[in-house]
This record gives sequence, structure tokens and C-alpha cells, in this order.
Amino acid sequence: MSSLPNMHDAEPIPAEARAEIDRLLQSGDLFRYTAPEDAPVALLEREFAAMMGSRYALAVSSCSAALFLSLKALGLPRDARVMIPGFTFAAVPSAIVHADCIPVLCEVGENYRIDLGDFEAKLDSVQAVIISHMRGHTSDMDAIMALCDARDIPVIEDAAHSLGTVWGGRKVGTIGRIGCFSFQSYKLVNAGEGGILITDDADIVAQAVILSGAYEHTWKKHVAHGDNTGALAEAFARWQNKLPLYNLRMSNLSAAVIRPQLAHVERRILDGRRNHDFVAERINRSPWIYVPDKLPQEERAPDSLQFNLRSMTRDEMRAFADVAAALGVKVQVFGLSSDNARAFWNWQFLPEMPELPRTRAMLEAACDTRLPARLTLEDCAAVADILVTAAEQVMSETRAYGT
Ligand SMILES: *Cc1c(COP(=O)(O)O)cnc(C)c1O
Repeated sequence: MSSLPNMHDAEPIPAEARAEIDRLLQSGDLFRYTAPEDAPVALLEREFAAMMGSRYALAVSSCSAALFLSLKALGLPRDARVMIPGFTFAAVPSAIVHADCIPVLCEVGENYRIDLGDFEAKLDSVQAVIISHMRGHTSDMDAIMALCDARDIPVIEDAAHSLGTVWGGRKVGTIGRIGCFSFQSYKLVNAGEGGILITDDADIVAQAVILSGAYEHTWKKHVAHGDNTGALAEAFARWQNKLPLYNLRMSNLSAAVIRPQLAHVERRILDGRRNHDFVAERINRSPWIYVPDKLPQEERAPDSLQFNLRSMTRDEMRAFADVAAALGVKVQVFGLSSDNARAFWNWQFLPEMPELPRTRAMLEAACDTRLPARLTLEDCAAVADILVTAAEQVMSETRAYGT
């Protein structure tokens, strides 16, 4: 086997970021509302909205903050019920609890996508929905939007890890009323921390801007561009002094790290997809491994790989992860590690803990491994070899001992 790929490091931040960071350090101008206009955060918002084709964007401290502000801007009352998939990251139900609402979990199938039967069955009991496109896996958004629109239930897209994914020709994050993205280091654009929300709804973004910490008349710095109907200025005037300030703003330094990466998004999407599909095709040939197909309407933008182990006991799955790690590829079985933040039974802060047998069964056999876009196909071949070899080794030992 050739040299082991480096599966962990992120791509270097583009060199252009340095000059801008130096300039900011020199002037000390780190706060988004100090400059009269065109602060790096404001420029990022304009560029991101243009890239996504949405009317408004608000950059904040994390995707979790964007989700929290989205719930607040929808005006949900205390104890409103908000549906999420049972397969997501703990930050998502946490944002709902933080917004004084109650997470309602629906089942997810072995292809990591929302079980539409369970979704529909629970839909009449909720006042809002957050669709987490977990690890970029996109559920049937046509069906979800039709069900929610028929009941006038607002949909927030948690596209934290889905920048660049397309559903039926539409960018994920622009399908629901609000889309939220993350710039945390494990996502496609890396600023260490950061998030952004996008929407076409002036009333929602005006509330989110004020709630995020636009005090006094700083919101005017959000109006300068693109408000040709005056809708945004009107919405701000309506909400002025009516909302608490949670101060979840983004710093200019983060925006300086993010902006030059936007030009690399398209390449990272294409390379990530190439790497994913290459490894998926190879490991799918193993009788012990199964990579679920995407839905036909989806164009993926993956920077990680999920697959299911089949016909293995829990001990064999643990042995598989150990052998793969020893060979150089770290694999996590979502449901086997004791504190995995994507296993719903570990969210012990939930006010109501559901039982989700289908989701549990999926999590107990589903594996997660990083697959950064910067890997070469040679690296990817080595990763695929390691995964197939690890499964083969564990299962041939088991069979030799006749257990
Ligand atoms: C990373 C992630 C989040 C949280 O993003 P932060 O920016 O770290 O708050 C939420 N949902 C999903 C699906 C994620 O992958």
C-alpha cells in the first residue's frame, strides 16, 4: 500500500487573507459596525448572498447562532414544537432548546434521509421544521416543502455542512424560508468558527439582524445595498427597540478569512464529489460495506464519507474501526462510541426523549470518515483499500474461528 494520506488537515487559508488581516490588525478595525460602510463582514454578506442567489444574508458567530436567530425571527412562542431529523448534530436540538422551543425528532432511514411517513405523521403537531442536511445528505425537499407549504409551516434549512449541494437545480439553503451555514473548521469554508443565514424575507432578516446585536441604528449599515423596494428599511423601522440583543455578531477577522475562500468553493465541491464517488464505488464492492445512493434530484458536495456496515456484529464493527485506524483511516461508527454527538440518545438535555428504532438501527451500523476535498485520487485509492482490507480482515478472522 502506498503512503498514508493525511486525512485530517484542512486546506491552507488563501494567501490573500493575510494582507487583509494585516490591514485590520494595523487599524484595529475588527468590529463590523465601526467602519461607515463596506466592513469585511458586510462585504461577505453581499458576496455570499450573490453567490447563493438570495436577497439577504446575515453573518454571525456560528451556524448554531444562525439557527437560534432563525427560530426567534419566526416569532415562535415559548414551548413551540419544532421538528428535526433524528440524525443531526447535537447543536441543532440545542438551538431549539435555547430558543425556548421543544425539539420533535422524526425517523431517518438507512440512507440517512428523513423517513417521510414519520415526518408527515408528526407534522400536524409542530409549528416549525428544521431540515438538517446532515453531512450533506439531502432528503426529498420537494415532498417536504409540499407537506409544509400545505400547512403553512415554515422550513429552516440547516445547511451547515451542505454548502454547494444542489437539489433539483436549486441550491440547498435557498429552498426553505431561511438557510443556515457554518464556517467551522470541519465544513467546506473554514474560519475556525462562524455562520451565516440567508433569506428572501425582509421581515425575518430585519429581526435577525437586530437580535444578532445591531444596536441603535447600526442596522442602517445593512440597508445600503440591494433594498430597492424599501422593504428592508421599513422592516427595521418596525422592529427598532422591540427585540433583545443577543450579540452573536461576526468579527471582521473571520470575514477576512472567509471571503477569499468563496472563490474556491466550486473547485472544492467538484473535488469533494470526485473523491467521494471514487471511494464509494470501490468500497461498495465489498460484501461488508454499503454506501447508500443519493436521491436522483441531488448533486452532492461532500467532504466526508458515510457508509453502512452489513452482516457484522457490534464486536466486529469495533474490530473493523480498530483495524482501519491501525492502517491509517479513522472511522467512527455513529452509534457505537459512547458519547457521539450525532446519536440522539446522547442528547439527554431533550425535554422529551423519543424512541426512534429505524434511526437507531441506522446509527448503529453507519460509519463516518473524513474525506477532504484536497486528497488526490491516489490518496482516495489508499483510503478505499484500507476500508476494504479492514472489513475483509475482520470478517475472515471471524469466519476462520467459526463464530
Ligand atoms: C456543524 C454543524 C452544525 C453546527 O455548526 P456551528 O457553526 O458549529 O454551530 C449544525 N448542523 C450541522 C448538520 C452541522 O454539521
